[in-house]
Amino acid sequence: MGTLDLHMHSTASDGSLAPDALVRFARECGVRTMALTDHDTVAGVDLAQRTAQLEGLTFVTGIEISTIYAGKNIHVVGLGINPHDEELLAVTTTMCSERDRRAVLMAERFAELGIEGMFEEAMTFSARESNLSRLHFAKALMKRGIVKNQQEAFDKYLGEGKLAYVAAPWGSVADAVELIHKARGIAVLAHPGRYSFSADWQLDALVEGFAECGGDGIEVVSGSQSPSFTEKALQFARFYGLAISTGSDFHSEAGTRPVPGAQGELPSGLPTVMKMLGLESV
Ligand code: AMP
Ligand code: MN
Ligand code: MN
Ligand code: MN
Repeated sequence: MGTLDLHMHSTASDGSLAPDALVRFARECGVRTMALTDHDTVAGVDLAQRTAQLEGLTFVTGIEISTIYAGKNIHVVGLGINPHDEELLAVTTTMCSERDRRAVLMAERFAELGIEGMFEEAMTFSARESNLSRLHFAKALMKRGIVKNQQEAFDKYLGEGKLAYVAAPWGSVADAVELIHKARGIAVLAHPGRYSFSADWQLDALVEGFAECGGDGIEVVSGSQSPSFTEKALQFARFYGLAISTGSDFHSEAGTRPVPGAQGELPSGLPTVMKMLGLESV
């Protein structure tokens, strides 16, 4: 099967490579099986899939759906979805409009802080005219020299409860799982080690709730979480019977995250999402 990466972004959301360029880059990095999982859109999936076929990679359709749980932005990856599913397309089209509406409100917050023109500036970092991400705002803040790096942008302005934060009207984790299932995909809890809850029990409750509403898998290896979290994630997988997944969460070469496929191998011994997708025997 070769190197596996089931979580990556393109310019269809807040990644910096176009879907076809991302597939070629992943291949150069040694990836042999990949999924494109853009935030709240499948706009890049068809092109990525065609390119993967040409390049000889095994391709898994995907999406990363935004949800809200306990005031935190929680992500649910859908793998093996039908990218032409009507309800999925309808819901995600609305979500992209909501992202743009939120971006206007965020720009107003910046203006109140004396930082003008942020909607337009963020837009210059987006390849699409829609689906604006907080990461596009982070890039705008860096370009203007207002912050030194992405982390500072989120710590001061963009993170939950920070100066320019505007909550998006995302649905629940259960809503995302249901949407993914209706589109014939499997639902995977993204980077559980990245959520900074104020109390430990909240992460346990999140994973328990995810499993109870039919969630299928969990990212035990992710470029977005510390490798030291893998052991805890494996405990969740065993306890709740969740299949294990891995992904770099690659966005751009400029980032500090691993390149495609470099996030680390899946530990052996537990059922994998690849097996659930019928792409592997173990
Ligand atoms: P959004 O989906 O528009 O709410 O923006 C969240 C995106 O910002 C994430 O998917 C990441 O790509 C990016 N990001 C980068 N650093 C952080 C951070 N410290 N906290 C949250 N998101 C971050
Ligand atoms: Mn992102
Ligand atoms: Mn995510
Ligand atoms: Mn992601």
